[in-house]
Amino acid sequence: MLNKRNIDDLQVKGKRILVRCDFNVPMDGSKITDDVRIQAALPTIKKLIAGGGRLILCSHLGKPKGPDAQFTLAPVAERLSQLLDKPVVFAADDAVVGEKACAAVAAMADGDVVLLENTRFRKEESKNEEAFSRGLASIADIFVIDAFGSAHRAHCSTVGVTQFVTESAVGYLMEKEIAFLGNAVSSPVRPFVAILGGAKVSDKIAVIDNLLGKVDTLIIGGGMAYTFIAAQGHEVGKSLLETDRIEYAKEMIAKAKAVGVNLLLPVDTLVVREFKNDTEFWTADCDAIPADCIGVDIGEKTRKIFTDALKDAKTVVWNGPMGVFEFENFAKGTIAVAEALTNVDGTTIIGGGDSAAAVNLLGFGDKMSHISTGGGASLEFLEGKELPGVVAIDDK
Ligand code: AMP
Repeated sequence: MLNKRNIDDLQVKGKRILVRCDFNVPMDGSKITDDVRIQAALPTIKKLIAGGGRLILCSHLGKPKGPDAQFTLAPVAERLSQLLDKPVVFAADDAVVGEKACAAVAAMADGDVVLLENTRFRKEESKNEEAFSRGLASIADIFVIDAFGSAHRAHCSTVGVTQFVTESAVGYLMEKEIAFLGNAVSSPVRPFVAILGGAKVSDKIAVIDNLLGKVDTLIIGGGMAYTFIAAQGHEVGKSLLETDRIEYAKEMIAKAKAVGVNLLLPVDTLVVREFKNDTEFWTADCDAIPADCIGVDIGEKTRKIFTDALKDAKTVVWNGPMGVFEFENFAKGTIAVAEALTNVDGTTIIGGGDSAAAVNLLGFGDKMSHISTGGGASLEFLEGKELPGVVAIDDK
């Protein structure tokens, strides 16, 4: 149970409530291509509006190095206004909490919504420097964090600001994310299976280590699997390989054995000579990958092994694709896993990022128990770390 104040513990009528959301949405120019993160923030926003709060929303978008029109949150204000069916005032203020923003806040009535400009327009944001934290706090009575996807970063708008407001709480999205991921890691219904994929072992070192102490089965696919295949003593040709992680992979294989975890690695792989979709590809066993080939997806035998391992699972956590799923020809492994998850009679949790995108793209989104809005944050959670943006909130 999360021992932090939540928005049901707050008296919000007439109060200025700064809500840190995660509106870091994918954009094509000024068009939002996926508004899942905006939708996910609605329960908290609606609850605070209904309570008569004055909502000042903030978020980062992308990685601007200062004010940059390409990263404005203006399109988010427009989309949010449509979703809420009420005006959302966009405070177009390059200083984020400068004169324009202060004027917009001063003009608010109960139930009004203002969206501030991209918090990363302020250089202090990602350094968690006091001036901007104080600036954010100066326009609010209460701070609410609902940005799960940003809570693993100690920035002004996630952590610093909490020092200068009198009250703070977590929002509904934050609570939901922590409930699903937290329960899965600390008290899973068994068998508990974790599936890890994606490009690099080095991004997931602490996750693998932590999960080996918790799961019944750990499945490793994607680009990171080739370092494990190398650790088994096989050649991987030109596949992704982190030579400096081979020793670590050997240790993890030994650890899995020692703690009795069923560690499943690919036994066959789709290989190509050229890294592109429209090229000749075939299946090779993982102990016979040709020297001039690149492994780009799990093979058919592996698909069967991995999906069979999911059949009796009661809790599944998945992070990272099984292959280069952006290329249609090499998406089969990722699709097979996504499909197998739809048949799991238990809790299925997708840890954000590419796996969440794949599941949604395939139309399986509503068949999963929970799709996390935060890739990086959910990984840190799976590492067993506390999220700074949650730690900073008032205890119950
Ligand atoms: P990550 O951000 O670590 O979850 O990695 C996701 C990326 O891993 C995707 O862009 C995939 O294309 C890539 N990926 C998955 N499998 C492979 C592979 N066998 N070779 C190269 N890249 C891969």
